[in-house]
Amino acid sequence: MILLDGKKLSEKILAQLKKQVSQLQKKPVLAMILVGDDPASAIYVRRKKIFCEEVGIISKTLKLPARTSEKKLLAIIDKLNKDKNVTAIMVQLPLSGHMSKNKIIEAINPRKDADCLHPANYGKFAQVDENYSVVAPATPFGIIKLLEEYKIKIEGKHAVVVGRSNIVGKPAAQLLLSRGATVTICHRHTKNLAAFTRQADILVVAVGKRNLIRGNMMKKGVVVIDVGMNRFGKKIFGDVDFPSVSKKASFISPVPGGVGPTTIAILLWNTVQLAHLDSRLDSVNPRRTSRLAKRAKK
Ligand code: NAD
Repeated sequence: MILLDGKKLSEKILAQLKKQVSQLQKKPVLAMILVGDDPASAIYVRRKKIFCEEVGIISKTLKLPARTSEKKLLAIIDKLNKDKNVTAIMVQLPLSGHMSKNKIIEAINPRKDADCLHPANYGKFAQVDENYSVVAPATPFGIIKLLEEYKIKIEGKHAVVVGRSNIVGKPAAQLLLSRGATVTICHRHTKNLAAFTRQADILVVAVGKRNLIRGNMMKKGVVVIDVGMNRFGKKIFGDVDFPSVSKKASFISPVPGGVGPTTIAILLWNTVQLAHLDSRLDSVNPRRTSRLAKRAKK
């Protein structure tokens, strides 16, 4: 069994981004909005800030009290949208129930949408040609990068995705599909989950329930991507029961150290993509970005 080392991959991506950022005329600025005092959200935002520092992206964290009204948050986003010094914006989810998540996401200028959550970006992304979108959903794209890093073949494989959220499950299924996998999506209403997970060559689990998936629910040699992040005190666990699953899997992404770091790396990758689009500078993929810049100008 081989561990899919997301930390190592994220360091590789960050090193590439650092080089790109150094070639930009002005440093990208990522504005992160944190509403309330959910400890896990605060940790994620702090980690993103550290990664930004590594790459040379300027991060600005706007900490707002839990009682912040939707109107106030929309006004803050509007201000950031208009601020020429801000390259990208992300709102740390989940938001508390008194706000409409959709309304908040839609308020972000798609050209500053670091998370690829705005329907204009997500819609482009969900169309078969994912290169149509400048940005990519961070966690699912990180999963693909992780599979590619370890030269794991996707085409022709049966990928089973457990979880159907807009942030992870659905876009992960979409990316696997566009790379030629046959995809099954399971969710809370799926009956006899094990009957599906046992068919998987690639199993992506994004649910948020510790030990939901055990070794007896899969065939030998499966590639397991564990997206789950379940906190118990200071410890963090995935959705799969690592001891039993690692006996069956050929590859497995650990928690922590798997999908988490790659997600942040892709968020910063998105930020740099938006900076390239903004400055019409492209040192990564000139053909793609100039095409996108032309399209955005229309
Ligand atoms: P979500 O709550 O939006 O979605 C959970 C999904 O799980 C739903 O589609 C639901 O139908 C499904 N589900 C619930 N119970 C199930 C069951 N018994 N069997 C099968 N499916 C079931 O969650 P999310 O935002 O997609 O996140 C999922 C997990 O991934 C969480 O633990 C979250 O913290 C983690 N996560 C990690 C990262 C990262 O960077 N590592 C990023 C995003 C989310």
